[in-house]
Amino acid sequence: MNVAVPREGASDERRVALVPETVAKLVKAGVAIRVQRGAGERAAFPDALYAQAGASIVDEPAALLSDADVIVGVGRPSDAVLGAMRAGAAVVGFLAPLGDPDYVQRLAARGATAFAMETIPRISRAQSMDALSSQNNIAGYKAVLIAASLLPKFFPMLTTAAGTIPPAKVLVIGAGVAGLQAIATARRLGAVVSGYDVRAAAKEQVQSLGATFLEFDVGDAEGSGGYAKELTPEQSQAQRTFMVEQIGRNDVVITTALVPGKRAPQLVSADAVAAMAPGSVVVDLADEAGGNCALTQPGQTIVSPNGVSIVGQTNLPSTMPQHASQLYSRNVYALLSPMIREGAFAPDFDDEIVRGACIARDGKVLLGGPA
Ligand code: NAD
Repeated sequence: MNVAVPREGASDERRVALVPETVAKLVKAGVAIRVQRGAGERAAFPDALYAQAGASIVDEPAALLSDADVIVGVGRPSDAVLGAMRAGAAVVGFLAPLGDPDYVQRLAARGATAFAMETIPRISRAQSMDALSSQNNIAGYKAVLIAASLLPKFFPMLTTAAGTIPPAKVLVIGAGVAGLQAIATARRLGAVVSGYDVRAAAKEQVQSLGATFLEFDVGDAEGSGGYAKELTPEQSQAQRTFMVEQIGRNDVVITTALVPGKRAPQLVSADAVAAMAPGSVVVDLADEAGGNCALTQPGQTIVSPNGVSIVGQTNLPSTMPQHASQLYSRNVYALLSPMIREGAFAPDFDDEIVRGACIARDGKVLLGGPA
């Protein structure tokens, strides 16, 4: 069985899909690994470490891909990779299939057996494969560091000879994986933190981290698989109105609210930003799905007319590429290792996890949404 690790195609992607630690484990299981020269460099994993772990370092895409059984990436494989791989090869990565049927169709037409990390079912057995969680955890942590460095204030309360500084107030909207890590990180820095989510289960989790839960019942908002569902226009409007006053009381607002396959709900209106004090910061982690804040500009930090910084930061996990890659690589290993039988690639398509992850096979689109 041959596994290929190409350099990532996206210019802002610093992560690598397999780190040397995982390469060594796969080599031990009888797998031959080829890594494109420099694939791990931007994540602080030089070629020499891959060679030590038993991988071959390859320059030419053809040598890397032409007989690869599995091509492992972080993001979608580039057109060059799709063009050079053999029909029937498996591709693994964040393939962002939801809401993009044309792309999945292209993968199927290329004959790829495609496994999307996003559609692995959220069942206990698949927890070690949950790359959405491992990467969102990093995004939540980094969002707080960005906010703290932009805010013209301390996060913690300080009692100094020059007098007392009150703690910063931080509101985290959306208390899933990223939001809970943001709450924990902001608390560690000494801020007074509150959290909000539409899922009832989030209340206890927010409180267990020492934050206050904002109570505002929008009604039925729980979807399947532990996710939220899209709110009705009336529920969304009620939520936005409630938020204006809450947001205005905070120095920092971190938004993480997402609904799989849908545009991110707009929770922070222009009125809410106008209600914030000059110098306040909004970090919008839903940027790639259209943003939770009405003023977010994708990939940019802007300052509103009343002096509020609004950070639309794409791909935060890539800004902490070493640990992001290490965790992602372990997720990929957990997905792939049960598919290796006596050194051959033999996925069991009757397995719930394999079925959930596989979005294209034998020329057919199999995507039915997250399990
Ligand atoms: P996500 O990234 O899809 O969304 C982030 C958060 O936004 C969610 O908590 C969601 O409820 C919230 N949200 C959506 N619309 C909102 C709105 N209009 N207003 C306020 N908040 C809104 O979700 P996620 O972070 O991937 O995780 C969601 C849940 O799944 C969490 O409870 C998490 O702990 C759970 N989870 C379970 C497993 C498992 O069982 N294996 C694995 C990972 C996560």
